[in-house]
Amino acid sequence: MLIQFRVLGVKEKICILKGCQERRRDRPEFQHHRKPSTVSMAGNAPSSVAALKCSAGVKEELETQKSIFDPHGVDPNLVRKMEYDALVWSSLHGLVVGDRASQMSGRLPGVGLVHAPISLLPMSFPESHWKQACEVAPIFNELVDRVSLDAKFLQEALSRTKKVDVFTSRLLDIHAKMIDMDKKEEIRLGLHRSDYMLDEQTNLLLQIELNTISSSFPGLSCLVSELHRSLLHQFKQHLGLDPERVPENNAVGQFAEALSVVMVVVQTEERNMDGEAVAVVYFRAGYAPTDYPSESEWSARLLIEQSCAIKCPSIAYHLAGTKKIQQELAKPNQLERFLENKDDIAKVRKCFAGLWSLDDSSTVKDAIQRPGLYVMKPQREGGGNNIYGDDVRLALQRLEKEGVEEDAAYILMQRIFPTISPAILIREGVSHKDHVISELGVYAVYLRNKTNVIMNGQSGYLMRTKVSSSNEGGVAAGFAVLDSIYLIYREPKDCGGRRSELIWCKAKMKRVFGAKKDKEPPPSIEDASSRITKRGDNVEEKIKKLDAELARYKEQIKKTRPGPAQEAVKARAMRVLKQKRMYEGQRDMLYNQTFNLDQVAFAAEGIKDAQQTMSALKSANNELKGMMKTVKIQDIDNLQDEMLDLMDVSNEIQESLGRSYNVPDDIDEDELLGELDALEADMGFETEGDGVPAYLQPDKEPDVEAELNLPSAPAGRANVQAEDELGLPAVPRASLRG
Ligand code: ADP
Ligand code: MG
Repeated sequence: MLIQFRVLGVKEKICILKGCQERRRDRPEFQHHRKPSTVSMAGNAPSSVAALKCSAGVKEELETQKSIFDPHGVDPNLVRKMEYDALVWSSLHGLVVGDRASQMSGRLPGVGLVHAPISLLPMSFPESHWKQACEVAPIFNELVDRVSLDAKFLQEALSRTKKVDVFTSRLLDIHAKMIDMDKKEEIRLGLHRSDYMLDEQTNLLLQIELNTISSSFPGLSCLVSELHRSLLHQFKQHLGLDPERVPENNAVGQFAEALSVVMVVVQTEERNMDGEAVAVVYFRAGYAPTDYPSESEWSARLLIEQSCAIKCPSIAYHLAGTKKIQQELAKPNQLERFLENKDDIAKVRKCFAGLWSLDDSSTVKDAIQRPGLYVMKPQREGGGNNIYGDDVRLALQRLEKEGVEEDAAYILMQRIFPTISPAILIREGVSHKDHVISELGVYAVYLRNKTNVIMNGQSGYLMRTKVSSSNEGGVAAGFAVLDSIYLIYREPKDCGGRRSELIWCKAKMKRVFGAKKDKEPPPSIEDASSRITKRGDNVEEKIKKLDAELARYKEQIKKTRPGPAQEAVKARAMRVLKQKRMYEGQRDMLYNQTFNLDQVAFAAEGIKDAQQTMSALKSANNELKGMMKTVKIQDIDNLQDEMLDLMDVSNEIQESLGRSYNVPDDIDEDELLGELDALEADMGFETEGDGVPAYLQPDKEPDVEAELNLPSAPAGRANVQAEDELGLPAVPRASLRG
């Protein structure tokens, strides 16, 4: 059905789906899901986006970054519109799962499908932790591979568990048979997913577990990221969120690529394979005891393991991903057995939460006392098997009392408390607001052929979000919804519901224990100096008053005769004098302090100046260096040489051009010299008068007036121009010259 939708136009698709919605709405079981406190999709035909845009209040609220992290604050009309579009998108793009309510679901393709449980908007996640999870993914891949090769380690680490856990024991038996056969897996394929929670208190990204078998949701997780990107894009104006901050997710593509690469490897090597041969076995099941209801399933597993097909995972990879091995690897010096690079070891270890075996009595004791801080885990996969809260205490006490070895079936793990955030979750067409926690899974592909690592890297992600009150996190198990991440620079605890809870708690504690005063910033040198100077001035004032008093007493002493009265005045004067001394001492001390502070301030200013000078020098130096780069001494030399050459050439040209053409060759030099002497004799005659040769004497001042032939100015009327017969200024003759 969905395939048919895809070939229709967009409008038609929506109409068809609207029809589906309408029909669903009439069904009584669907109406049953509608709770008064929830926002139901049913009956919420979306109001137009244009109408939402006009709502200024809504826009204002939604444009703030806060709305990313608090979907509860988003305008309900907009939420309904987004929910509707999200469901349409999910139906069109195959973001669907089997509907448990439908009997035919899973029996006939395309029948009994419902949209996957999703979160309406992506969950904010710090970019730094996202990068950390991606960076460590190939290291975990390598670790699994190395651990899988150490058969002895796997058998020994799980030996106690084997005694009490039948399922693990069967897996170990298959593994042991492979050791006996000396079976080597040359092509090793791992499609892994490492799950993490971000612990709020420590701000550490801590690994929940590493899945080496049946890592679920690579396909749907990609679609959720796509859906969220699409919603953020469509409602960008209202939400103000950047769709690009939802990282691209190509888990399914990467997994498919790894599998197809394997196929190629097999085809080229195994030319004679017939159509029946199996190249790769991918285990989508086989991780839980219920997957082996009879001996034939175990036989099948053994047969596959013995075959030359590539297994994803091999029995060794499967065992390397068990919780017991996770706990063993967290012990001191264990990682060092498998990884050489210290940085890699540190990166992996940083992700480890507290993990303990149950033979660690002090931890067991603590877990009994504070069970809320631990999770007890059996060797099971698939969700719903862990023990939390008070049940941890009860289970541990039972094991202690019974004194059985069953404790080896479990491990204890530090409970991680992620940040609680507000979210809108949609399940079976019904959405509701809730407070949630999230778990990030990072997919990773590893493909190796003997010594050649063909693929090793992070390959997409899965975000699962569940209500904060739920212990377990499986989507298929019905605990969580599919989500994606919105990368933020800040830590998520800066926002959302959890923050307000914390603020509330702090306020409550303040009331009980009293508030600690905020620390004042230390005073600056200037502040301190002016405060002390002021105090010094006050003391100075007091001294002046005492001086005045003393002057009065002095007068009185002068005026009174020696005797008891004078003595009394003298005594008062002495007291005032003492006070004065004391104040003077204080004043001097205060002024000394001011002086010291001024000195410090001066030194500080000096350092500041020096810093400025240094930075000015540095920048000038850099500038000079930059400029010098463009100026090369060699270039200057070359330029100079070139100039000299050019000058030479130019001189030659000048010389050549200045050469006389018609100078006769037969001129008698003696004759010319004689002529020169005669010339000099003439010149000597001319200069006899004033001793200066005529040709060196200055030119005589030209008589301009005479030249112009102007009339001389009449005496006493200098500057007065001559007038003609009409009394007008006479026209100078000179001006009549042509
Ligand atoms: P499974 O193999 O069954 O998936 P997990 O170890 O992944 O087992 O645990 C299942 C779920 O339980 C996780 O998805 C997570 O939600 C929750 N969980 C597991 N370990 C912890 C822990 N240490 N702190 C908090 N929650 C945990
Ligand atoms: Mg899990």
